[in-house]
Amino acid sequence: MPQPALVCACCGSRDIQGAGPGLPDRKRCGNCGLVFLHPLPGPEAALAVTGHYETQDPHSAVARSKEAFFLHALQRLDSLCPHKERLLLDAGCGHGYFLEKAVRAGWKPFGLEPAPAAARGARERLPGAQIVEGVLGPDMFPGTRFDAVTLWDMLFLSLDPLSNLVCCQKALRPGGALGLRVRNSSFQQALKRVFSAADRIAPRRFGNNPSVFHVFSFTPRSLRFLLARAGFTEIRVENSPLTSGDPYMAARGSILARTAKHGADALARAAFVLSAGRAFMGPSLVVFAKKPLGQGE
Ligand SMILES: [Zn+2]
Repeated sequence: MPQPALVCACCGSRDIQGAGPGLPDRKRCGNCGLVFLHPLPGPEAALAVTGHYETQDPHSAVARSKEAFFLHALQRLDSLCPHKERLLLDAGCGHGYFLEKAVRAGWKPFGLEPAPAAARGARERLPGAQIVEGVLGPDMFPGTRFDAVTLWDMLFLSLDPLSNLVCCQKALRPGGALGLRVRNSSFQQALKRVFSAADRIAPRRFGNNPSVFHVFSFTPRSLRFLLARAGFTEIRVENSPLTSGDPYMAARGSILARTAKHGADALARAAFVLSAGRAFMGPSLVVFAKKPLGQGE
């Protein structure tokens, strides 16, 4: 029986190829560069992710490593939503570390979190906040329209990123802002190639390959397609500020991994400036976008 043609979840292209050496279970879109698991995992994958965040994730160390990013994100959101009485929904809020900083910056906090223990942690951290245990859906907070919705390091785990972003768009007031952070697929593929080459020269000398691939691995081009399809405008993709430390122990003492991280950050900043904002070489991307004014829904 013929298989239905694969379609890119970001740009809709049918130009889908193998993702290349070392990624046998993934496909790549020839138009926008999106890399994705094929076949997509079933609902049990979501349970495994929830279980990870319940029992294994070093959440306080991860939050500390993201301090510079959190402050950068709040500055950007502040410039996009400068008025008072601002409502912010952090989808995938974990234990509420980002929302805690958002409160100090003058935002009224709302959180959505599928992992029960993390949602409990967020409620304890933020007693006055509305923290709902669950996933992005059409009526997460009925009757409430947010000035900003943030999705930090969660969209790449979703099985349907377009539907998730449409829900965010509908939850925003007209003119409201979206903040999104994901891994940079182009950087992760280059990192994988460098480590594979180094491992061939000196087997096991440089530790585990620290490149990371989730259900979806986005490129700047794929993100622009996806956000435009979800109804966003003023889409701005940037290299994310570097996180500090190594909370997931990805480098495992590898000098090459630590050097690569900081060398890549310096290169990413230089390339972004020299290319007038067109080259994205950082390990992660951060995106800000707006819901158009004049859209009630
Ligand atoms: Zn595509």
